[in-house]
Amino acid sequence: MDTPDSATATTARRRAELAANLADVRARITAACTAAGRSPEDVTLVVVTKTHPASDVRLLAELGVRDVGENRDQEAAPKAAATEDLDLRWHYVGQLQTNKAKSVAGYADVVHSLDRIRLAHALSVAAERQQRSITALLQVSLDEDPARGGVSATDLAELADAVAEAPRLTLGGVMAVAPLGVEPARAFARLREIATRLREAHPAANMVSAGMSNDLEAAIEAGATHVRIGTAVLGVRPSLR
Ligand SMILES: *Cc1c(COP(=O)(O)O)cnc(C)c1O
Repeated sequence: MDTPDSATATTARRRAELAANLADVRARITAACTAAGRSPEDVTLVVVTKTHPASDVRLLAELGVRDVGENRDQEAAPKAAATEDLDLRWHYVGQLQTNKAKSVAGYADVVHSLDRIRLAHALSVAAERQQRSITALLQVSLDEDPARGGVSATDLAELADAVAEAPRLTLGGVMAVAPLGVEPARAFARLREIATRLREAHPAANMVSAGMSNDLEAAIEAGATHVRIGTAVLGVRPSLR
């Protein structure tokens, strides 16, 4: 057992580590924005806390983080409940099964991984029951690999219309993960074209969620408005349980 003093010291050490990592990531975002001729205020840092404890979420909130992300409902739901007293926006970034829509609609403010019409309906119905509203980003598959999730560019317009019509969903924009083995700059350039086309039909859908610890600069260069950063802030994840 930790003595109270050593527990306090451990917390202080973790806080210092998170503060330093956050400063590094914020500096990278600012530098990338400068290089791209953009304002850092136009890029939101979403800190992906998956596999790390709710106590880290609490420290991050103390350090000024407002946007946190998770990719599994089993982990996100209890973590959101444990930090309910904090003023946080929860971003659900992982693949989402329709039968989890009810749970996710209870805490998520933004779902980045909407990729099929059935899921749009399920989320909207669940949000309605809980008197909530959700911003939905359409996850685009940039390599057309069905195993990784995401809607194909071909099916995007139809999905966008369905989300725009769903009573409790707001169509926010698009999200993508750079496919393995493809240069991120190329993948994100393609996402930018897709986002531009989406805005022709849905002008308010101006969010672009792209960029992770290893490729945030390329994403910002290509117009990302939301970067999803885990490892660079929290450190290497404990092995997946
Ligand atoms: C884990 C995860 C991230 C963060 O990845 P890092 O490489 O740790 O920054 C971003 N997006 C999604 C969808 C994730 O699952």
